[in-house]
Amino acid sequence: MLEMFSLKGKVALVTGASRGLGKPVAKGMAAAGAHVVAVARDEEKLQQTKQEIEEAGGKATVLALDLSDEDAVRAGVRNVAAELGRIDICANIAGIINWQPLLDSDEEDFQRTMDTNVRGTFVMSQECAAVMRAGGRGGRIITTASVLGPLGRAKLHAYCASKSAIIGLTRSLASELGREEITVNCVAPGYFLTEINANLQSRPGYMDAINGVTPMERWGKPEEIVGAMIFLASDAATFVNGQVLHVDGGVSSSFKFQLAA
Ligand code: NAP
Repeated sequence: MLEMFSLKGKVALVTGASRGLGKPVAKGMAAAGAHVVAVARDEEKLQQTKQEIEEAGGKATVLALDLSDEDAVRAGVRNVAAELGRIDICANIAGIINWQPLLDSDEEDFQRTMDTNVRGTFVMSQECAAVMRAGGRGGRIITTASVLGPLGRAKLHAYCASKSAIIGLTRSLASELGREEITVNCVAPGYFLTEINANLQSRPGYMDAINGVTPMERWGKPEEIVGAMIFLASDAATFVNGQVLHVDGGVSSSFKFQLAA
């Protein structure tokens, strides 16, 4: 029964594998049997991820690049495919956030967020889909939105726009690639303790405020994203396509009114 969750023999490209949520996913997919291609900008941290995977008996390759650099992404994926012979899983986890009041925002900030979060996911998914199509074995593309994907949030215009776009992109890719057994699904994290929200964690009252609106009354630990990602990447999810899987302690399902019933 557990065999259906195995990633043995698969090549899994994981973006954001240098830290945060992507690193435990990279390690988890390697532990499930995949040869992981760890992608992000910080080569030193990626080497650390690779070392930890290898120390645990897994296989990993480092691919250091900036996701907003289209040429680097296309060349990087093609080199990986040539070297490893296949790509079965493309887990797009990397992302950035930028808090700014509307009238202080400039187009450059907006563009940087869209380029990394949306264009990076699009180009990476497009290149991986081409490799999957050529291999004829189907594949798995996973994107990462947010609890803020379907919602708005003050001072997070570019981020919310990018995460809504990721959901639309996911559904469109799923509609197009499903007939080739390439599934495309999205994971929408709630509040996890990583660097992306370090400034919030240190703001007085913020930790408790998130606990207060989350039915499980706590923040997520980075390892708690791994199971959902492995599920979507595995044979356990062969007929799951175009979905948004919220991994958020229930925060997206609950009316956020903090007085007791
Ligand atoms: P994080 O700790 O800040 O890590 C972000 C990751 O993205 C790092 O590995 C970073 O690596 C990589 N990255 C950023 N810009 C990149 C670029 N231009 N090119 C290549 N890699 C880049 O954030 P996280 O918590 O792991 O977030 C992962 C994903 O989950 C993001 O898409 C985020 O929006 C989403 N999410 C997180 C939360 C949360 O509470 N943590 C909630 C909702 C959604 P380098 O710096 O080495 O490039």
